[in-house]
Amino acid sequence: MAYAYDDQNIFAKILRGEIPNNTVIETTHTLAFHDIQPQAPVHVLVIPKGPYVTYDHFAAEASDEEIVDFTRTLAKVCKMQRVEADNADGYRLISNAGAHGVQDVPHLHVHVLGGRRMGRMVEPA
Ligand code: 5GP
Repeated sequence: MAYAYDDQNIFAKILRGEIPNNTVIETTHTLAFHDIQPQAPVHVLVIPKGPYVTYDHFAAEASDEEIVDFTRTLAKVCKMQRVEADNADGYRLISNAGAHGVQDVPHLHVHVLGGRRMGRMVEPA
């Protein structure tokens, strides 16, 4: 089954400039911006510019160039936010997908959370 991308999702609108965002860094294939409802002192969303719904969709179908750009940009975000695990106190990455992942926005995003110690990895079911 192919992934169906809904180009009316809020991150698609951000990418088209229809909705403002607080950008951390923008590259050829990637945009990183602050989450509008931060759950931690550092809460940045890293998204590819391409129409990918989930991480597995992106990992399977994006070009090598997009994947490298996304991954390297995520590393830059960690350094820019001073949460990188070698010099600073670390972070947590979360990428919710689908119903069980409780994904609200159907455009791939990786949450970069840091600036405080995170709680349990997942809530009990
Ligand atoms: P999800 O539940 O899909 O993993 O996370 C969606 C995230 O997008 C949430 O953390 C939510 O606060 C964030 N979000 C939703 N709408 C907007 C928006 O318009 N701007 C920004 N910057 N973040 C948003």
